[in-house]
Parts: sequence; structure tokens; C-alpha cells
Amino acid sequence: MDKIIAISGPSGAGKTTLTKKLITDHPEFVVSISATTRTPRGEEKDGVAYHFLAVDDFKNKIINGEFVEYEEVYDGLFYGTLKSEIDRIKNSGKRPLLDIDVLGAENVKRIYGDNSETILVLPPSMQVLEERLRSRGTDSEEKIIERLKRAEFEIAQKDKFDNVIVNNDLETAYQELLTAISK
Ligand code: 5GP
Repeated sequence: MDKIIAISGPSGAGKTTLTKKLITDHPEFVVSISATTRTPRGEEKDGVAYHFLAVDDFKNKIINGEFVEYEEVYDGLFYGTLKSEIDRIKNSGKRPLLDIDVLGAENVKRIYGDNSETILVLPPSMQVLEERLRSRGTDSEEKIIERLKRAEFEIAQKDKFDNVIVNNDLETAYQELLTAISK
């Protein structure tokens, strides 16, 4: 059986770039659209970037058992993988790819066991991560500090992942990702 892929990593590690490359080269993978209580950023559209939900709607879905997993990733902001989303992807004959935080990935492993492959994408060092976050120029100083703090926590979870990819060189990291998903 094809495994569910969960990919995690600090913001700035290159997870999004790697994921985009993967789904372009391998259209059998489809990124699962998560639900979140955060508000849309910029051009983000409901049902495309995320299913944007009011806190009450999100809580009702928790009570109704509609989530495979959910986490309060940032203070007061919830993110979760909907069962309906995984079913939709599987029923279309495709393979779900979950871009979720480290705790979400651990839950996926707990739930799906050998039917899942968890991948952590890490930057070569905290210094490189900080440089990447600053050069993006999209985050305030406060956000950069918050993301760096969260990155330390995420890096500390690395032993719980099936695969750890250190993204020093994008092409090498991509090859490692291909190896991980073909297991
Ligand atoms: P952002 O707000 O920047 O889009 O995402 C913040 C974090 O939430 C990222 O680390 C992302 O991987 C994580 N995330 C997105 N969707 C889910 C989800 O469904 N479950 C969990 N556990 N984390 C998620």
C-alpha cells in the first residue's frame, strides 16, 4: 500500500520549495489542504491554501471526530488535517502529502504506523536559517525570533522522524526526498 507522506520542518528550511518540486515532477502526490483558524494572508484563497474556519467551526469538527490530527501550532491558532481531505485524495487514486508541524507528523506516525513515512527538513544550521529568514524580508523581527525559537523545538524532535533531510544543497536534498518517498 502507498504510504501517507508527512513532511515537516522549520519555516525557512526549504520544505515548501521541495514540496512544490515534488508535486510538479510527481503528480501522483497531492498536498492535503489543512483546516486552520488563522486568517488568510495576502492572496490566500479559502479551500486552496487552507480551509479557513472560525474557531467554533474548528472545535465542532474536533468534537465530531472530523480530524485525523490537529495541533495548536502557534498560540491560539489551530491547524488540522481533515479525514475528508485524505479520503478525497485517496479516492481520486492519488497519494496524500501532508505539510504539517512536527507534532502533527508524530501523530500521523502514531495513527498510520508503517503506512506512513515522516520526513523532517532541516536547515544546515541555525545561523543559515536565520540568514534565510532575514533575506526573505517577509517577516517582522518579532516573527523571526518566534520562528527561530520554534525551529529549535522542531530540530529537537528529529529522532522521532523516519527521515531527516538537511537542506544544504537543494538538488541533494531533493534526491534524498525522492529516496524517502519511494520507501
Ligand atoms: P502557516 O501559518 O505558516 O501556513 O503554517 C504554520 C505551520 O502549521 C507550518 O509549520 C505548517 O506545517 C503547520 N500546519 C499546516 N497545516 C497543518 C495541519 O493540518 N496540522 C498540523 N499539525 N500542522 C499544520
